[in-house]
Amino acid sequence: MSVARSSELIRKFALKNALDYGKAQEGAVISKLIAADPSAKARMGELAATVKSVVLEVNGLDRAQIEREFSRYAAEFREAEQEKAERSSKHDFSIEGAEKGRFVTRFPPEPGGYMHIGHAKPLAIEDKLRRIYEGKLMLYFDDTNAENEKQEFVDAFHADLKWLGIVFDGEYHASDNLPMLYEYAEKAIGKGAAYVCLCSGEKIKEDRASGSGCVHKAHSISRNIALWKEMLGNKFEDNGAVLRFNSNMQAQNTTMRDPTLFRIKHAPHYRQGSRYWVWPTYDFCTPIVDSTKGVTDVLRSKEYELRDELYFAVLDALGLRKPRITSISRLEIGGNVTHKREVRKLIAEGKVSGWDDPRLVTIAALRRRGILPQAIMEFALGSGISKSESVSSMDQLLAINRRLLEKGALRLFIVAEPVPVEVEGADKNPNYKADRGLFINATDAKGFSKGDSIRLRGAFNIRIDGVQKDKIRATYISSEPIDAPRVPWISGKQSCELVQIGPLLVDGRFNSDSIRRIKGYTGWDVNEMEEGSAVRFEGLGLYKLDSKQTFAFLSL
Ligand SMILES: [Zn+2]
Repeated sequence: MSVARSSELIRKFALKNALDYGKAQEGAVISKLIAADPSAKARMGELAATVKSVVLEVNGLDRAQIEREFSRYAAEFREAEQEKAERSSKHDFSIEGAEKGRFVTRFPPEPGGYMHIGHAKPLAIEDKLRRIYEGKLMLYFDDTNAENEKQEFVDAFHADLKWLGIVFDGEYHASDNLPMLYEYAEKAIGKGAAYVCLCSGEKIKEDRASGSGCVHKAHSISRNIALWKEMLGNKFEDNGAVLRFNSNMQAQNTTMRDPTLFRIKHAPHYRQGSRYWVWPTYDFCTPIVDSTKGVTDVLRSKEYELRDELYFAVLDALGLRKPRITSISRLEIGGNVTHKREVRKLIAEGKVSGWDDPRLVTIAALRRRGILPQAIMEFALGSGISKSESVSSMDQLLAINRRLLEKGALRLFIVAEPVPVEVEGADKNPNYKADRGLFINATDAKGFSKGDSIRLRGAFNIRIDGVQKDKIRATYISSEPIDAPRVPWISGKQSCELVQIGPLLVDGRFNSDSIRRIKGYTGWDVNEMEEGSAVRFEGLGLYKLDSKQTFAFLSL
């Protein structure tokens, strides 16, 4: 792509960014540019300077100027949004073979971390299917990994799900089903479908790779039953023995090469304490719990497709009813992280403040950011039941959220990066109170020079006598409106902070510009607002009152 064309794209995205967020941010413009023109990535060295200067320029314009210039691109953006909306309204949410009134599905989080936007997609689809098929949606805590799981995460899931407005038809925990799973294990051993293997983890891995069975695979059923009783009788150390599925060590689908069904772990469990040390794997536990709890339909992310064969083979081996599996793609947000390990690292490095840092996409973070639950659910349903991979953007979620918030948002004026104006003779105007000061936006102040006449909107006219770095000196002219630029202002100053949030990652790396704090003054009392409420600041866009303590507003 030519340099001229790239520059035009940069300008277009900077204008859009400034319109949406009040100010354009380099990081956001760069991600948009790369999304529109992947070749730009390789030329970022030369383009970075252009981005910087264009963003600076656009941020120097006032809202009216930005709107005017953006108007030539508005149709293009509107069409793209409409297309997206049409695509999503056409989604077919039917599942072949599913029947009204005989539909049961479940939402299966592992309480090993906080709920994030990725969980919202299966949840939203399951909730929708429950309604379509007049069925049930169960909450299933998949909690058989003692080392990962905590009650704290169970509680957080409950709180987030409640906030999202999801009411379940029932709830159960995998770990409450161990006695039943032990019985099924014994049944499988009795049928020759499982055996106790005493090989090291490394040996098992090598055998799987080479496709060869170990000596334990040939053990008799009675020998296996005896070893299984030893496992349950606490005769082994951690990983000293595993129960494996007796399948095919040469299977094309390598997940079928005698996978582990149970292993030994003595770590205390948040719910079961030290009652158990023989723990089932996901591959054994999930199909059996689904089948015995009456689940008819399972939604799984397509990364698990290779495991579908195993899911059904376990049920076949035990003669249990098989639920239907529908594969869906994962919902990913570009420029962000959902993986626990990555989030923990950012927290440990002090780059984000915690799991609810408003730049993250955990549900707690999105709630703090001011995203409505309806916006999350609408966004999560956006790609329907599809297997095609797509990376969604935070912008899409924010656009839905702004549409939902727009009507209820209070409209207020605020001065950003306030510049004081000292007006000689202002006391001639009865509305002016000298002790409260008079402030205008830094962006407005930049445009003035000595000798200019301006009208302070709704008040009186002044002549600029001098523009200094941190203040403007002026003289009162008159009160009656004159033909001069109208400049918004406030008197009185309650300081507040505008926190502008940009993408967490740019080009896969932490964006040190992902949070920007701008000083603001209000002429009204922030205390009169409710924490969490949305407000539209003239010329700046939508914000949410994050904290009354710090008077901080987050960009929406
Ligand atoms: Zn073995």
